[in-house]
Amino acid sequence: MTNDAVAYHFGMAPLAPLLLPWFDAHHRPLPWRTSRDPYRVWVSEVMLQQTTVAAVVPYFSRFLAAFPTVHALAAADEQHVLKLWEGLGYYRRARHLHAAAKALAASHPDALPDDPAVWADLPGVGRYILGAVLSQAFGRKLPIVEANSLRVLARVFGYRGDPREGAGKAWVWQAAEEVLPDERVGDFNQALMELGALVCSPSKPRCGECPLAAVCVANRDGLQDQIPPPKKAKEVVAVREVGVVVWDGPTLLLCRRPADADRWQNLWEVPHAEAGEGESDEAAAVRVVRELTGLRVKVGEVLTVVKHGVTRFAITLSVLGATRAAGRFRAGFYAEAKWVTPAELAGFPVSSPQRKLLTRLTEPRLF
Ligand code: SF4
Repeated sequence: MTNDAVAYHFGMAPLAPLLLPWFDAHHRPLPWRTSRDPYRVWVSEVMLQQTTVAAVVPYFSRFLAAFPTVHALAAADEQHVLKLWEGLGYYRRARHLHAAAKALAASHPDALPDDPAVWADLPGVGRYILGAVLSQAFGRKLPIVEANSLRVLARVFGYRGDPREGAGKAWVWQAAEEVLPDERVGDFNQALMELGALVCSPSKPRCGECPLAAVCVANRDGLQDQIPPPKKAKEVVAVREVGVVVWDGPTLLLCRRPADADRWQNLWEVPHAEAGEGESDEAAAVRVVRELTGLRVKVGEVLTVVKHGVTRFAITLSVLGATRAAGRFRAGFYAEAKWVTPAELAGFPVSSPQRKLLTRLTEPRLF
């Protein structure tokens, strides 16, 4: 029988009476769980997208200390917001959160609204954020699907297709909606995610400790390793990049990416780009600085090499030192540039690979 022909009776085995007592006894005491304040719930859920709980905890506390209310966030400078997001990645989330805070502070100055239509119109608010915020903050009967709950639902109901794509995606959202209880919807949604994080792990789920073991099809049929099907391995492409630290006396050139850049929007960096095939590091460094900034430079030696990944690209970034020889900075590829001292670097929001290289470069032996 194909998946499409299987009738899933989501209501046959109500999950909430099994899951909620387990959640009450076993959930982690995380800082965003201390209140149902919609602003706190919202910030935490945006941070948690694509990021682990352990990574988010310190960021959440720092962010809430700096911006304790939606009005404080709305009034903040975007560079300050990005600085507090530095290292969490997916910076578009921060910029959307900031833009949405501005919109909400203006349209709903007294309290964040219990209104799905208002939230659905905000930048960065997709179906997951909508369900997570409104179910947890206001008890709205709205589903959530993310990596953990997706895995739990697919296993419990024995879904054999890929719930991350196409018809499978539609199936898992339907499942998430139909299993919702009438009461404690927010807790139930969190419980599904928590079970996936703590018990129903991708490999070697601990079914012996699972409150859903008696109703779980994957457990009954021994299909835990096959549901959900393993993700197809992405083809990794190696890329050689050259970055250049351009000095002018005691200062170095730091450039800001434009707001419409393909990634790392409005973050700062030293100029860098892919080297041509057969092009030496030195030749690439001269070309990259000229093309991206308009400056002529005299290139020195390789100072450090940083390896990092971006989507399916494995990037090896060789960073060379250089001195400014002629020309003035020209905006275009970058929105603006500043000549800064090494001591000032810590104040600029930068991406993780750039922070890594700047930290290495500020080690005394490299100056
Ligand atoms: S019984 Fe096992 S496979 Fe099923 S939901 Fe629980 S941990 Fe996951």
